[in-house]
Amino acid sequence: MTGFYLSRLPQIAFGSGVLANLPAIARKFGTRALLVTGAGSLKDSVHWSRITTGLETEGISWRHLSIPGEPSPRMVDDAVANLRSERLDFVIGIGGGSALDAAKAIAGLLIPGNSVMDHLEGVGPELPYIGPATPFIAIPTTAGTGSEATKNAVLSLQGVDGFKKSFRDDKLVAEYALIDPDLLTSCPPAVVAANGMDALTQLLESYVSSRAAPLTDSLAWGGMKAARDGLLVLHADTGNATAREQMAYAALISGITLAQVGLGSVHGLAAPLGAFFPIPHGVTCGTLVATATRINIEALWARDPHHPALEKYALVGRLLSKQGHLNREAAHTALIDTLEAWTHELELPRLAHYGVAHADIPRIVANSRGSSMKTNPVLLDDDEIAAILSARI
Ligand SMILES: [Zn+2]
Repeated sequence: MTGFYLSRLPQIAFGSGVLANLPAIARKFGTRALLVTGAGSLKDSVHWSRITTGLETEGISWRHLSIPGEPSPRMVDDAVANLRSERLDFVIGIGGGSALDAAKAIAGLLIPGNSVMDHLEGVGPELPYIGPATPFIAIPTTAGTGSEATKNAVLSLQGVDGFKKSFRDDKLVAEYALIDPDLLTSCPPAVVAANGMDALTQLLESYVSSRAAPLTDSLAWGGMKAARDGLLVLHADTGNATAREQMAYAALISGITLAQVGLGSVHGLAAPLGAFFPIPHGVTCGTLVATATRINIEALWARDPHHPALEKYALVGRLLSKQGHLNREAAHTALIDTLEAWTHELELPRLAHYGVAHADIPRIVANSRGSSMKTNPVLLDDDEIAAILSARI
């Protein structure tokens, strides 16, 4: 059996209605909270008044910070500079991946007070993070990134010299993750589609990762089964409580598995694509995953037909297509066909929709070899990576 290392996880409460436990959980961390949310509709929802009234009932005072769009290093540094003197006891992040990542990074730096640029991977001095982090409670309102379970905050600077990089440390993992599938009720279908494909991609990539391990394999398998049963149903009807639970579960598990064993070529490409173009992360994953899976399978057949990832891709093909009898080659085809069918049904736009052109490919490929690409099951050459992009422009 492959050896493995299990890094820190948050304490987790999962289930319909668990948001009601927030005030009691929060009280254990102190009486002064920072609430970080997205710019979206949470403040107008019934959940907001429940959350704030519940905190006040427990004697907890709160400050609110809303994050417009994907967080940048400047946004994090400004928040830390403005809030440091308030001696906040804990941070609650409520929202999609952007809000949770911003909250996670701010919680990491409220006490140390230095710039997040000191620690971002691949840019700047990459100083070790000493901490301490302010306790962080993560409450996802979308089913996608799994940020509630990961040790990294993704920050981006968009534009020609843009980047999309992680502030990563075990100390940044949330103390508590509260996953209440009822919060997904207000997710628009396009957000369900993009986030759901992100979760599915994260599960598939960690399942075939070069660092994959038995423990994460079993988790990823259950997550993929939940996504298979929940994704299209939730996209059609966010009122479906079972589908909400299935996708909230798939997203949580995808965060756990990616934090342990890493990702693959889709996420390798998502970093430069998200830095250079205004493409939501989930859309990148959804639009690329079928083609990237095909290119991986072809490269594995060509280089090493006995590679264990080929057997794993076949298992996933049988799982997602619900055709348990297929031989290995047919199961590979079924996997690619199923992913393509879902991409089509979920109406995930092509890259050109966001301004990506064939002339951009070399620059994207050149910036795709970050940490995720390193755990792809097969080392792809530049032409193979370019082929993933050109098929989806
Ligand atoms: Zn992702």
